[in-house]
Amino acid sequence: MSYRCPKCQSPKIMPVASSNSVRPEIPKSLAILVPSVLFLLLFVSISLAFLVLDKKMGLLLQLATIASFLIFIASGFMFWKALPKFKQSMQTFMRAQKHWKCRQCNHDWQNS
Ligand SMILES: [Zn+2]
Repeated sequence: MSYRCPKCQSPKIMPVASSNSVRPEIPKSLAILVPSVLFLLLFVSISLAFLVLDKKMGLLLQLATIASFLIFIASGFMFWKALPKFKQSMQTFMRAQKHWKCRQCNHDWQNS
């Protein structure tokens, strides 16, 4: 089976929800990993701004940066461990999903 649109060959396809479709299992660590990356980027950029402005960083900001870094490492590690299972559940979902829609040309089709 193909993961491309049969009409325009675009890989930008999305599953059309059907009543009996199985959802892929999203690891909980991913739900922590994504915001922790954002927080880490935020705190790192604030810290860099303090560094550039040559101002003393507050203790709270330092702790927040360290904490967000630790959460990022921990959730990254958890996600990395859950990755094989996540991949498998995604593949099962891709196989079970019959009804697809193309975001490029709006063509929709059913896989047999
Ligand atoms: Zn298409």
